[in-house]
Amino acid sequence: MTATVPPSTTRPELEELRRTVARFVDREVRPVIDDWERRQRFPSHLMEAMGRLGLFGAAFPAAVGGEEAGKLPQCLIVEGISTTCLVQVLALLPIAVPGDRRQCDRYVVPGLRGEISVCIAITEPGHGSDVAGIETTAVRDGDGWRLRGSKMFITNAPFADLFLVAAKTSPQDARSGISLFAVDRGTPGLEVGAHLDKMGWHSSETAPVYLSDCRVPADSLVGEQGAGFQYIMEDFNFERLLLAAQCVGLAEESLDIALRYAREREQFGHPISEFQAVRHKLARMATQVEAGTTPSVCSEAPATCATTPPSASTGTPGC
Ligand SMILES: Cc1cc2nc3c(=O)[nH]c(=O)nc-3n(C[C@H](O)[C@H](O)[C@H](O)COP(=O)(O)OP(=O)(O)OC[C@H]3O[C@@H](n4cnc5c(N)ncnc54)[C@H](O)[C@@H]3O)c2cc1C
Repeated sequence: MTATVPPSTTRPELEELRRTVARFVDREVRPVIDDWERRQRFPSHLMEAMGRLGLFGAAFPAAVGGEEAGKLPQCLIVEGISTTCLVQVLALLPIAVPGDRRQCDRYVVPGLRGEISVCIAITEPGHGSDVAGIETTAVRDGDGWRLRGSKMFITNAPFADLFLVAAKTSPQDARSGISLFAVDRGTPGLEVGAHLDKMGWHSSETAPVYLSDCRVPADSLVGEQGAGFQYIMEDFNFERLLLAAQCVGLAEESLDIALRYAREREQFGHPISEFQAVRHKLARMATQVEAGTTPSVCSEAPATCATTPPSASTGTPGC
């Protein structure tokens, strides 16, 4: 597989980054993750600790406190963290790229430092894959907007300080009718529903969000009115890459656990790792993990995707 690895992945600083993340995970996450999973609660101190280490900003523009190092380092970070848990700051990207200076200072800069938590609220009970079909509306109300609708499966909603909400500013239009709004926790009319029980990633909290006549000021609009669908799709392009890295992190951890167990567990007087059928399974798992490691995944992505910060694909960041 090494033949497919792009030259950048052999850079010593990326290897050092991998080691830094692995040390962080061993020290801060591994000792407590089982407890968090049982309690289905996200440890907020983890955000701050990751922010202090600069683990959120690798792909963000320097103007908002990011490293502007490209997507590959961010994928490596996510891969390392995902061996144990899921941490999400993706709502910051659609603000960092088109957002104005005030929005970037208020949300993106502290968000990358882990000082505030964020969530992105797009999915609705009736519209998941079909983003253009969302029914939440934003209607002009004086110099502000009034939001109405329901959102579903919103990661971080139970504790987020910022809700980046997708709503239709012209309901008769599909894609071109969607806009994004930055809504602060505590805004009257915004309510978070009951914690949702998932099959996994229990410590990553997920909940519905309800907007009933939630009035927000005019400067809550992020970027251009009607451009929300485009911002969301840009975000999803990166999110899909990060989700792939998350899956690889989970697979690496699963392989480690399986190997450890196969070496410890004895049957017929031998560790089961000595049996050929078990070794076949482990070898197949190891091959698949190796094939999927982040450098390989990124080498399959378009060159711009693996090496440039997100802002480059949508134009100059607004701040
Ligand atoms: C753990 C978790 C966290 C999430 N966090 C967030 C979040 O923070 N913010 C947010 O807004 N959303 C979030 N979501 C929602 C997520 O984005 C949606 O689940 C996703 O968009 C799919 O929507 P759906 O679940 O309604 O499935 P549906 O859209 O109803 O799809 C059902 C099935 O049909 C398939 N399908 C749909 N359309 C087509 C098609 N045209 N062709 C072929 N197959 C199709 C899908 O692939 C899927 O298998 C989260 C979901 C999960 C599970």
